[in-house]
Amino acid sequence: MSRYTGPSCRFCRREGAKLFLKGERCNLEKCSFERRSYGPGQHGQGMRRKQSNYSVQLRAKQQLARIYGIREGQFRGYYREATRVPGVSGENLMRLLESRLDNIVFRMGFAPSRKAARQLLRHKHVTVNGIRVNFPAYLTRPGDVVAVREKSRKLEYIQESMRRTRDVVSWLSVDKVNLSGTVLERPTREEIPTVAEEQLVIEFYSRV
Ligand code: SF4
Repeated sequence: MSRYTGPSCRFCRREGAKLFLKGERCNLEKCSFERRSYGPGQHGQGMRRKQSNYSVQLRAKQQLARIYGIREGQFRGYYREATRVPGVSGENLMRLLESRLDNIVFRMGFAPSRKAARQLLRHKHVTVNGIRVNFPAYLTRPGDVVAVREKSRKLEYIQESMRRTRDVVSWLSVDKVNLSGTVLERPTREEIPTVAEEQLVIEFYSRV
């Protein structure tokens, strides 16, 4: 199945929440959800029906999949891994999603969104431990050093993203001069700033 290439803002309106898919624009008045918080399409402004349990779980899953830009088959794989290892499955799932290289590039500030981070990776601008990696789903581990390649450091796109400095999460360290960063440790759920109801996602997959 091919990847959806239409407008990302549609997802926020469909899910009834801001998913922050477009970087800086999400914090401005231009945000589509701020202007039109009803669903997309012809019937978007219609009354919302009462949702079944299944529907609530499905929406929670879709929301998380859209935030991290993951397709169904891959998401199911993360669920299997999250329930296989010890610990709270929902938290394991969030840790797996946060370990993805596209998310780390975004969290370090090298790209304004996860989608933009995937683009940087596909164009081979990023290294992990000195080796070029162009695979967005690459799972990083504590101690991994993620860096923008030396010849890519002057790219205005990356520089602009770095200028719009956000707080970097506590489990990553970033060297803003050399555009590199280190994964210090695996985050706890409290250290992951993504708003999600991951337990509903676990319930969604466990019933099928
Ligand atoms: Fe969602 Fe608003 Fe960002 Fe568009 S600009 S992706 S509607 S949060």
